[in-house]
This record gives sequence, C-alpha cells and structure tokens, in this order.
Amino acid sequence: MTRAEFAAEIKEKYVTNGTGDMGHRFEVYDALFHTGAKLIEYFGNHERIMISVSGGSDSDCIVHLVCTYFPEYLEKIHFVFVNTGLEYNATKRHLSQIEVKYGISIERIRGRSVVSVVKEFGIPVLSKLKSQRAEAYLRDAPWGIRYVKPDPEFKSHFRHDAIFTDNQIAMVDYCKENGIKISANCCNLSKKKPLKKWMKEFNCDLNVTGERKAEGGMRSLTHESCFEEHKDGMHKYMPLWWWSDDVKSTFKDAEGLRYSDCYEIWGMRRTGCVGCPFNLNIADDLQAMYEYEPQLYKACMNVFGKSYELTDRFNCRRKKCLPEFMQMTLTGEIERSEED
Ligand code: SF4
Repeated sequence: MTRAEFAAEIKEKYVTNGTGDMGHRFEVYDALFHTGAKLIEYFGNHERIMISVSGGSDSDCIVHLVCTYFPEYLEKIHFVFVNTGLEYNATKRHLSQIEVKYGISIERIRGRSVVSVVKEFGIPVLSKLKSQRAEAYLRDAPWGIRYVKPDPEFKSHFRHDAIFTDNQIAMVDYCKENGIKISANCCNLSKKKPLKKWMKEFNCDLNVTGERKAEGGMRSLTHESCFEEHKDGMHKYMPLWWWSDDVKSTFKDAEGLRYSDCYEIWGMRRTGCVGCPFNLNIADDLQAMYEYEPQLYKACMNVFGKSYELTDRFNCRRKKCLPEFMQMTLTGEIERSEED
C-alpha cells in the first residue's frame, strides 16, 4: 500500500467514520498517517526485518498494522518471541491465536531461563540501574559504593530516580550482611543476549519493537525518535513511539483488536516481563496470577519472593510489591527466619 492509499483508507475510517469530536479524529489520523509513512520508508529501505512479538498490547497493534495494511513487506519480516522461562499461559495461547488470525508464524527463542539466572546471580531489586549498582556495592566495587552511598557533592549530579533512598540503602545493607545476592543479569542473559544472537544469525538490519514514549519510565528518556541507527547495522525502529494511550485505544476499537486474556479478562494494563520486581504494579499482577495462573504465581514467589519481601519490608517504594493478602504471611516468615 502506498502512502496515498494508506492515507485515504485511514481518513475514511478514522475521520469520516471515526468517533469523538473532529479534533480527536484528526489527532488519531495524524498519528496513524505519520506511522504509516515512516513504516513504508523504513520497511522499504531494509531487507531483513525482525519484529519482536511479546504477546502484549503494543506488539499486537504492530502485528495488526503490518499484516492488515502492509502485507507486501511480510516476505522480509520475521516475527520473534523471546521466552524467558516464566511466561503467562495466556500469552502463549495468544501468540498461537495471532498466528492463526494473520496466517503468520512467530519464532519462539530462548536464552537462559530467568529462574536459573536469578538463582545463580541474585535477585533483581528496585530497577535495572539500581540492581546493577547494588550488585557492585555488594562486592565492594568502588563505583558501586559511589552510587549507593555517594558523598553529597556527587549526589547532586544524579537524576532523582537514580538516588538510593535511606530505606533502599538499608535494604541493600541488609542483603550484604545476610549474603543475599542482587543482580539484573536475567535482563541480559534471558532476554537481550538470545535476541542479539538470533538477530546476528539472521543478519537482521531492522529491529522493530513496540515501545511507546507515552509509557514513561526510563525508556521514554532513552530514545529521541522512532528510529535509531546502530553501529552494528541492526537499526532500531519503534513504529508506535509517538502513539498516545488515546490513539492506541481508538486504533484497538476501530480495528476490532482483542488483546490477550491478561488484558481482556484479568484487567492488566501491561504485561511486561512476568513477575519482574521492577514493575511498579507488581502487586496487582501477582494478585491476578494468584487467581488465574496459580502455578505461575508460585514460580514467581519462588524466584522473586525475596525481592518483593525485602522491598516491602524496608518500605523502599510507595506502592507495595506483594498483594495485601500476602503482607502478613511474609512479615511472619521474615521474622521467623531471623530468629532461626
Ligand atoms: S525485566 Fe526483570 S525479570 Fe525480566 S529479565 Fe529483566 S530483571 Fe529479569
């Protein structure tokens, strides 16, 4: 489909027959037109394209966009899902449904399981950056100490979210005294590395992901536009980068998309990496898992339980990690283990 054809089609669907006032209709049209125009440019200029499919809502939108409006590029596209070893059954089911719906195949790849990496290297806590710094602090690396307990002058150079609060320092010190390892290595070994390896073998020249600026967090600060040139020749393209939540939900409704059961039945707003303690809404996700996928809930408690417990116990975050029904039990467990 050419730019003009795409523009005509979405104009009819989102402006002429769209919903909401005219301002809203044109806002959605503009966002989609920009996405389509860029997609045509980047997909046209690259030969070996990989689209990461996570089973989450953003990647659903990309798959639908490409398969519905730009199927002419499918012959040079590979869809890839990285299985970390801890995945929702709802996500696995959804991937199969997507394959049937669009007649595509999604390659499942695996690196080391999150379970084994956490067991070997330690638990992730707070955020990726803070876990890396805490890990260095635990082994007395000077740079780790500088970041976890900076002198006041150095501290003033930090971004606010990179500063360890007193409670977080107390938690890290507790880990040090009790030989509890901290690490964010699973990000690298279970997700990044296998994907990088696959991309290299595939000789990929365009890595397409579903990140959106509107999601906020660290990611929204790390990219300046939807396309990034990379020195290794594997450039990055994020088609939904400029989509607001409103544009995305209008697209979902107009296109008749159905996300995975995690969203549609459990009510999750994001799926992300299952059980990850970095997730600020982890308590809600654990509650949903407890109800809908109790085996996965148990697995997450086994792998990340210590991280949730300690984060809550030391009041490291405004929102708790553990669902309310778990708070009492774990307080008891921690106290018991200290008495032992
Ligand atoms: S996002 Fe969290 S759980 Fe997932 S690999 Fe990274 S640290 Fe591990």
